[in-house]
Amino acid sequence: MKTKIVNRRTLLHSAGLLAGGLLVGAGSAHGATRLSAPPARPATPDEAWATLKEGNRRWVADAAIHPHQDRARRDEVAEKQNPYAVVVSCIDSRVPPEIVFDAGIGDVFTVRSAAQTIDPLVSGAIEYGPVELATPLIVVMGHQRCGAVTAAAHALREGTTLPGDLQRIVEALRPAYDRAHGDVDKMIRINTVDTVAKLKADKLLAPRIARKQLKIVGSYYSLDTGQVTRLV
Ligand SMILES: [Zn+2]
Repeated sequence: MKTKIVNRRTLLHSAGLLAGGLLVGAGSAHGATRLSAPPARPATPDEAWATLKEGNRRWVADAAIHPHQDRARRDEVAEKQNPYAVVVSCIDSRVPPEIVFDAGIGDVFTVRSAAQTIDPLVSGAIEYGPVELATPLIVVMGHQRCGAVTAAAHALREGTTLPGDLQRIVEALRPAYDRAHGDVDKMIRINTVDTVAKLKADKLLAPRIARKQLKIVGSYYSLDTGQVTRLV
């Protein structure tokens, strides 16, 4: 019995060493793959979108390189950040922007609300990057089978009122509901495009778009494939 316990401990110890070895190996591979990551921050709206698209392509292909997720990057951005995009997405646990775009710390501002609905507080958060740090791209990202949109469609169809501030989300989605005739997937897409239109009319963002310093892209994330498709 005693021998068995010792053997088990030895085994666990070996497993620990092995795991440590694997981690070191992964770290080296990681270091090597980082060389293929963009060497500099994308400077233009198109470069920023190309970088996000490429990161999403890796995520879809199960070939993520997890760039900028190490101590060196932490040190690099500890005093100052300079992200190349603002991603406006849903609170849904399945759509974290840094993961679906295979990005790291200091790369993107993420602004998340239920069904990426916006109000003045959220708009202020979105304005921050472009206005203060010249962030060249905003990506609004809706997603497949959005629970917030589904719940809102249900409430509007049944004529029920959700408790507390949840009803605000329902009201924010009412225009999309009306135009989609209650079709949830259409609602998701219409609401995303509507959010882009609202942001394009934002008094701080509009002049930057006119000067070609900023672009706003509307997109749709597939939970099934991981792919981000541009809508507008
Ligand atoms: Zn959602």
